[in-house]
Amino acid sequence: MSKNKKVAVWLIWILVWPTSIYFLFESTNPQIAGNELDILAFAILASIVALFPLQIGENPVFFTHGVSFAVFLYYGLAVEVIVSQVALLFVLTKLRIGKANLHRIPVNFLMFLIISVVSAQVYNLLGGQHGEEAIASTAYVIPIVAYALFELIFNQFSIKVVAKFLYNRHVKMFDQGLLWDLISGLLVIPVGFLLYMMYVEFGLSAIFFVGIPFILISGMLMLYHNSGLVNKYLQRTSKIGHELTGNLGVTDVLDLFVDRLSNLLPVDYIYIFDVASNKEMNLIRFFDRSEQVSFPDISLHKGESISGNTWKEGRSFNYKYRSEWAHLENKYTPPQAESSLSVPLERKGEIVGVITIYSNQKRAFRQFQFMILNILGNYLAVAIENARHYERTKQQSERCPLTGLYNFRYFQDHLHEVFATTSGDEPDPISVILLDIDHFKQVNDTYGHEGGNEILCQFAERLTSMVGGHGVVARYGGEEFAILLPHYENYEAYSIAEEIRRVIVEQPFVTYQHILTDQEPKEVTISASIGVASYPNDCEGPLELIRHADRAMYVGAKQRGRNRVASYEYMKTAAES
Ligand code: GH3
Ligand code: MG
Ligand code: MG
Repeated sequence: MSKNKKVAVWLIWILVWPTSIYFLFESTNPQIAGNELDILAFAILASIVALFPLQIGENPVFFTHGVSFAVFLYYGLAVEVIVSQVALLFVLTKLRIGKANLHRIPVNFLMFLIISVVSAQVYNLLGGQHGEEAIASTAYVIPIVAYALFELIFNQFSIKVVAKFLYNRHVKMFDQGLLWDLISGLLVIPVGFLLYMMYVEFGLSAIFFVGIPFILISGMLMLYHNSGLVNKYLQRTSKIGHELTGNLGVTDVLDLFVDRLSNLLPVDYIYIFDVASNKEMNLIRFFDRSEQVSFPDISLHKGESISGNTWKEGRSFNYKYRSEWAHLENKYTPPQAESSLSVPLERKGEIVGVITIYSNQKRAFRQFQFMILNILGNYLAVAIENARHYERTKQQSERCPLTGLYNFRYFQDHLHEVFATTSGDEPDPISVILLDIDHFKQVNDTYGHEGGNEILCQFAERLTSMVGGHGVVARYGGEEFAILLPHYENYEAYSIAEEIRRVIVEQPFVTYQHILTDQEPKEVTISASIGVASYPNDCEGPLELIRHADRAMYVGAKQRGRNRVASYEYMKTAAES
């Protein structure tokens, strides 16, 4: 809702509400004198049952309606308005309206005021009476039933009009909300009627006779509903646990976790910290529902801000109001936040991280949601450990430990994958470059095996920096390397190969760990023989592509004197001519 609309709502409320109430009392002249205590008892009863809403699907059902129905029948519109509006205040508190939504208070007060006034007109038009007279004749069944039904339907209608025009929400006129309102009405209105009859008969004590069971039933239904709700949460939590055990990397684990958590709990911000040393922990994931704050780079010491404090204390915290954690505030705490849950991530009895979530509403999180976050925290701690293990194993199985390049196996698999994505009449070209260092045995013989290793590493770095993101570089064997260039035509791959050859031979490598007698680092000049082959010109499949690049390297470059680039295509035409 825009700021202008909010201001307008408050202004209208200030202008309309007090005067309306005044005129209501002036015009209907309700029988208050002598009944103050009874009316107060009704207002208290309505307010207490307002605190036990029954959540059915998305819609809270409030039993307050029954009480105000009895009050209306006996005392008429003005007193009913007072009782309803007092109870509404409790309903609104129960709904936990945050600072940003305070305008919903005047909107609701005005809406229910209008509903009460219009419904009462229906009742009066049909000849409905008040006090003991309300059921004096069987003919009064019509206004009573009409009033109850009209109020129910008009209530739904008003909620939808407000949602559509004030909050610009998309609404359907006939949906579950309407249905549940009718069903709850069928439940609540008869009890309200009973309350009225007992009140006529027994006076104030009827409020206790009917009111106390009423409150008990509301409370029991609420407990029943809550246990169902907790069950649902536990099921969803366990599902998240399962999802986190998949073969995932750390980023995937955090993505999944934040996505599920932000759907499960009413959070506005999520901070996930990873303990880096016994002095510091770093933010590894951040979520802002409003998407206004970008990922902040945060490191915290023990005791610093809410998360650092959770780390230091080694236990979970459930803060309901900002004032409870204001002393822990720092420049990264969300300015609007009110409630916060902060939970340590533990593994083998050690704290390895902290999750802190915030809501902009006061008392946003319920006790069982706090428990759920604790369970999820345990899942996350284990999932991150598994993901790191998975990434390590994957790295070990894919990479060469000496140079850090991809290994032969990865290269082959990747090549097959690239081939799988290209097909059709005009397939995307794929080129492969194979390199073999010339006389590398001599390098080893002269400088020692370790010196040779140093040169292999520098060689790998040089290839990686030259190829960049255009292709995949792999160590294919001892001193043999392979480069996969998807989308590259043969002539393009050839010119890259030629550039690589030139840079290798023109810029010497350096060995520090050599076996020569003096300790000085030694510059070593080497060269490489290089073969290039491309799909679809030189081959039909991945294995043939490698074989032909190898052949170009061996026959076209090595045998012809080394330190040169040979293209399979060129060799082929040379052999044929
Ligand atoms: P050319 O290829 O020019 O025919 O000569 P070359 O000396 O490179 O020939 P060959 O392929 O026979 O020898 C390869 C040498 O590379 C043998 C081996 O000592 C060396 N080599 C292979 N892997 C490693 C390694 O991991 N570290 C070191 N230092 N040397 C290696
Ligand atoms: Mg070799
Ligand atoms: Mg060699």
